[in-house]
Amino acid sequence: MTLNFTLIPVTHYQQNCSLIWCGATGKGAVVDPGGDLPILLRHIEEQQIVVEQVLLTHGHMDHAGAARSLADRLQIPIVGPHREEAFWLDILPQQAQMMGFPSVPPLTPDRWLDEGETVTVGEQTLEVFHCPGHTPGHIVFFHRASDTAWVGDVLFAGSIGRTDFPRGDFDTLVQSIRGKLWSLGDQVRFIPGHGPMSTIGNERRSNPFVADKRFG
Ligand SMILES: [Zn+2]
Ligand SMILES: [Zn+2]
Repeated sequence: MTLNFTLIPVTHYQQNCSLIWCGATGKGAVVDPGGDLPILLRHIEEQQIVVEQVLLTHGHMDHAGAARSLADRLQIPIVGPHREEAFWLDILPQQAQMMGFPSVPPLTPDRWLDEGETVTVGEQTLEVFHCPGHTPGHIVFFHRASDTAWVGDVLFAGSIGRTDFPRGDFDTLVQSIRGKLWSLGDQVRFIPGHGPMSTIGNERRSNPFVADKRFG
C-alpha cells in the first residue's frame, strides 16, 4: 500500500489542493487548503479519510486561506511551512483583502518544518525540503516511495514561481529548483500549486527558465 492522492482545485486561482492518504490505514492530510472549505469537507467525507493534519507549502492566501478553518473544524494541527514564512502568514488578513478573499486571521502553524525533517501520514513518510525564492519559507514535500513531490509555487510545468514579491528572489528560486528538486530524480512526478502535473525530467529538458541546457 502506498500514498494516494486526489487533486482538488480551489479558489479562483485554481490552486491544486491535495487530499492525500495512506492506503493501508486511511489516515490522511490536506496539502495547501487555500479555500472552498465545503468542497474540501465533501471530498474528505466521500473518500472516508481520517484527516489528521493540514500541511502547508507556503503562506500565500490561495494555499493557506482555509487552513485555520479546516484545522479547527477537524481539530487537527497545521504543519509547515518553514519558520521564515511567518513573514507571509502574519499578513494573511491583508492578502485576503488584496486578493478578494473572505477575511481570515493571521496564522501560526502548530509545527514549523525545516530542511531534512519528515512528516508521517499513516504509514507513509514525507521528506521536507526548504526551497526559498518564491517566498522565504517555502517548503516541498517529497514521498520517495512513490517518487511524488508537492512543490507548491516553486516549479510548474513549463514555468517557475513568481519572484517579484517582497523577499522573493529569482536566483534563490533557481538554486532551490536546480540544487534540490533536480536531485530527487528525473522520474519524480510533481504536483505544482497551479496547472498540470509534470516530471522533474521533463522540466530539466524543456522548462524555459531552468532547463539544463540554459546552464551549460
Ligand atoms: Zn505562492
Ligand atoms: Zn499559488
